[in-house]
Amino acid sequence: MNRLIFALAFAAHKHRDQRRKDVAASPYINHPIALADVLANEAGVDDEDVLIAAILHDTVEDTDTTADELRRTFGRAITELVLEVTDDKSLPKAERKRLQVAGAGRLSRGARLVKLADKICNLRDIARSPPAGWPLERQQAYFDWAKAVGDGLRGTHPRLEQLFDEAFGARPAHP
Ligand code: ZN
Repeated sequence: MNRLIFALAFAAHKHRDQRRKDVAASPYINHPIALADVLANEAGVDDEDVLIAAILHDTVEDTDTTADELRRTFGRAITELVLEVTDDKSLPKAERKRLQVAGAGRLSRGARLVKLADKICNLRDIARSPPAGWPLERQQAYFDWAKAVGDGLRGTHPRLEQLFDEAFGARPAHP
């Protein structure tokens, strides 16, 4: 429990100046907390390394945090989980998106859990409060891409996959 609280404080500090893309510009830290909440309290995942990796999952991709820093602070196992779900930002966005679909099946079980929770939370966020300036087509394209990633993660955790399907069921559409 202490390690988990420490990870929360670490991530809150690293993401302190970031906001989500929704119209309300919610604090970024709400997102990693939501992942951990889905995993622990909706899906019953109690693997502490996975919950901590969920809290830290965007620190390397979206802040100045380095893999070395994570390794020194949280150890090798958690760091590997975070790196598995970290995009290579030197690649163009379309290529990163393609790699997420192509690479989903090669992830470790822990990384699959984090990735499923990440997509569940992003789909819920878009359905509830889409990013500012995203037309319907872009929201739908995100849902369809997330579904392609999710399809590569099947057979990992039935409850989490059910939550994913429920989140996908809210795919935005013309009235
Ligand atoms: Zn995320």
